[in-house]
Amino acid sequence: MSAVPKTAAGSAVRYVSTRGRMSGARFCDVLLGGLAPDGGLVVPQSYPRLDAAELKALRTLSYPDLAYAIISRFVDDIPQDDLAALVRRAYRPETFGSADITPLHTLEPGLHLLKLSNGPTLAFKDVAMQLLGELFEYVLKREGKTLNILGATSGDTGSAAEYAMRGRPGIRVFMLSPHGKMSPFQRAQMYSLQDANIFNIAIRGVFDDCQDIVKAVSGDSGFKNAHRIGAVNSINWARIVAQVVYYFKGYFAATQSNDEQVSFAVPSGNFGNIFAGHIARMMGLPIKHLILASNENDVLDEFFHSGRYRVRTGRETAQTSSPSMDISKASNFERFVFDLVERDPAMVARLWREVEDAGGFNLGETPYWRTIAQYGFTSGRSMHADRIATIRSIKQKYGVIVDPHTADGINVGLKQRESGVPLICLETALPAKFAETIREALGHDPVVPPGYEGLESRLQRVAVMDPDVEAVKTFIAGRSK
Ligand SMILES: *Cc1c(COP(=O)(O)O)cnc(C)c1O
Repeated sequence: MSAVPKTAAGSAVRYVSTRGRMSGARFCDVLLGGLAPDGGLVVPQSYPRLDAAELKALRTLSYPDLAYAIISRFVDDIPQDDLAALVRRAYRPETFGSADITPLHTLEPGLHLLKLSNGPTLAFKDVAMQLLGELFEYVLKREGKTLNILGATSGDTGSAAEYAMRGRPGIRVFMLSPHGKMSPFQRAQMYSLQDANIFNIAIRGVFDDCQDIVKAVSGDSGFKNAHRIGAVNSINWARIVAQVVYYFKGYFAATQSNDEQVSFAVPSGNFGNIFAGHIARMMGLPIKHLILASNENDVLDEFFHSGRYRVRTGRETAQTSSPSMDISKASNFERFVFDLVERDPAMVARLWREVEDAGGFNLGETPYWRTIAQYGFTSGRSMHADRIATIRSIKQKYGVIVDPHTADGINVGLKQRESGVPLICLETALPAKFAETIREALGHDPVVPPGYEGLESRLQRVAVMDPDVEAVKTFIAGRSK
């Protein structure tokens, strides 16, 4: 890796909690965990800043070299050569379909699609999960430990986690999913895995039931410690770091020089993907706007228009045709608010007490809100009819079929596009995962990518259970590593 510029290795990288009661943690300390011990989220003490010469040196790097150059800025407790090897193994052309890993597809001059969905499960979550698989195996081996990953999924996260962890020594995955509620393709992706370290549990209930069971099991510290229960959910810090890389990749692919600005359109749910864009921008990548697209569940769009953050109840959370954005609250959002309130942990703790007590908070009337523009966020909402119309018009104009989530991003992005600023729309899944909506929009099925033919008719392996915490614990206890 001779082309890789100097990294931050050698200078200290430390992590703190957004609520102030954790400091001085290192990357490997926070890698396997979820929330910080005080209930806050883990963030770096400061963001690394790239100067013009450093940014210039990144422009010509291959994806794995670029990934190493970025990720190593956030890690100082894995030897550089080891980290470089882990990154190289995570980002192989065989796994992502091309050497570019996240290729840029130009629809027309100034309008691009950054293709993040060519990994094993055809959604952008593979980009982070594949690295997580390598990191977890490495750190567990080094520390002589094992881990039982427990998670709940409504579709994309569970399959990405299973494909990243399958066959890895020392790791088992117990993934809860709502029985009969995922798309047939998503179900087949997960349940057709025959690896001995993967356990699918279909819960007779909805996603929230699965989530509640995970919370109950993880909240039992005796059980959690005895069975070394871990998580790979969307607040995992390493997942965010891995996602920072493709903002750089997309920027370099869409521009000729680092004097140019671009904007990104990001279909958002738990605020993980677009928060990675925020980090890239804070590091000095010339991003003009981060355009956030919500679907019918518009918690985040409401915030960026008003300063008001109001979490929704289960009943208020709609099931939509872009299901991976169906959120009642955005689990990574606290990380951004930490920056917005000038990194004051007491203020963050106070705001999230208000979330607990009153269901939200309003920063719109505070001095903090006057600084919001400097972060470059804009937002909009995309509804079912917009989604369908966008899938149609993108097909008609460019001959490209996009998935419903990507369509939400494109729809909002095009409305807020500025002339002279290239727009990069993040493609977060392939249409094959959401056949029903594609049929509604186009009157025919999406193409199934090579290698995925017949997926739905493969033998499936899943335990179907009632939403019963004790039964799930018993299941795990009998099979944990
Ligand atoms: C997870 C997901 C999203 C939302 O991403 P966040 O990081 O939660 O904002 C959007 N689209 C697809 C296809 C997803 O799987």
